[in-house]
Amino acid sequence: MKYYSTNGQAPLATLEKAVVKGLAEDRGLYMPERINRLPQEFFDDIASMTFQDVAYNVASAFFGEDIDLDALNDIVRSTLSFDCPLVRVTDNIYSLELFHGPTLAFKDVGARFMARMLGYFRSEEQINVLVATSGDTGSAVANGFLDVPGIHVYVLYPKGKVSPIQECQFTTLGRNITAVEVDGVFDDCQRLVKSAFMDEELNRRMHLTSANSINVARFLPQAFYYFWAYAQALRLGFARRQLVVSVPSGNFGNLCSALFGVRMGLPIHRFIAANNANDVFYNYLQTGRYEPRASVQTIANAMDVGDPSNMARILDLYEYDHEAICRHISGAAYSDEQIADTMRLCLAETGYVLDPHGACGYRALQEQLQPNEVGIFLETAHPAKFKERVDKILGIEVPIPDRLAAFMKGQKQSTPMSAEFQDFRAFLMAQ
Ligand SMILES: *Cc1c(COP(=O)(O)O)cnc(C)c1O
Repeated sequence: MKYYSTNGQAPLATLEKAVVKGLAEDRGLYMPERINRLPQEFFDDIASMTFQDVAYNVASAFFGEDIDLDALNDIVRSTLSFDCPLVRVTDNIYSLELFHGPTLAFKDVGARFMARMLGYFRSEEQINVLVATSGDTGSAVANGFLDVPGIHVYVLYPKGKVSPIQECQFTTLGRNITAVEVDGVFDDCQRLVKSAFMDEELNRRMHLTSANSINVARFLPQAFYYFWAYAQALRLGFARRQLVVSVPSGNFGNLCSALFGVRMGLPIHRFIAANNANDVFYNYLQTGRYEPRASVQTIANAMDVGDPSNMARILDLYEYDHEAICRHISGAAYSDEQIADTMRLCLAETGYVLDPHGACGYRALQEQLQPNEVGIFLETAHPAKFKERVDKILGIEVPIPDRLAAFMKGQKQSTPMSAEFQDFRAFLMAQ
């Protein structure tokens, strides 16, 4: 399988090149040339399969031509060392809990998979991974890559804009993980990373790659848990009704992987892209115009993205057909106040504790579900990751899981950085 660039100006790439380079030469995002449909027997059997078996089938359809199948099987199994259970919240709304991994957010799936695949393709020279984070990516990537031989990770995060618990998860590790605290917003971090990839001299010297959801090895594996959600819906006996999946979205890697799943035959009827106040996608649905702008800070901070990188993939997948996109995906956008209200109401009515990101997904289902539909929202992070905020909103004490508490014992180490590329470049050249 070859990978093409969404900008159409770069040569086709092998899987190895797409994974090792991250971004194409023309700054486009790599897309697989074909999306293989999974055979009917797979869907006939899916309800009796394990999560790992489901994921291995999906992974083979994407990567099976280009990687040894036994190695791929090992990568899938060691990535998915935790479950993604589907939990009933109301009669017609279920939560797909994606926070049972080591850093308690869905990004563990993609980050762990990518670390293992990069390890598989690694050559003699050290690879340097650059990752911009608004919170969860940094922790998932740092932990996914910790102590992987031959790989060094630089995590760029906006100063004062990630929660203290999130910050501990990538600034206390040390070893092959360097945290860089940027005086700016998330979009500045993302711009620094993109500029570094475009700098030829820097690339020659450092073998740079990206672990943001622009990397195919990070975003495609996220399709695994949508198939697993469907398998669980079959077991719970409601998969015959029309399934609507609501995805709390920032950079749109998560939603985009689900759209690939649908092209592979996954019977999800439609999607909702749930946003916070950063509503460029919501506006695109209303107007047909995509107008990126600076992100604003919200209480669902991992979704504070003003220029979602995977928009390029969504537009490419639908051949820039705005109507087709609107038929499949509807939007929602919520203020901090609406998010907090939703969290309080959900706790009062159902006993379920939402985190601020999942709350956007839940509310969108409450508002938009039709009588013949069943909704699944993605609970993208554990509420304890945002403990100060969640406790204050709900007036309760969210218990901190042990694996999260362990991070908070470490010593914070990070390098302060301006938002100017020249400063970041000089820092990297000195490494
Ligand atoms: C990253 C993240 C999101 C947004 O996911 P995208 O794939 O960037 O759209 C939502 N919720 C949480 C908790 C996240 O960490």
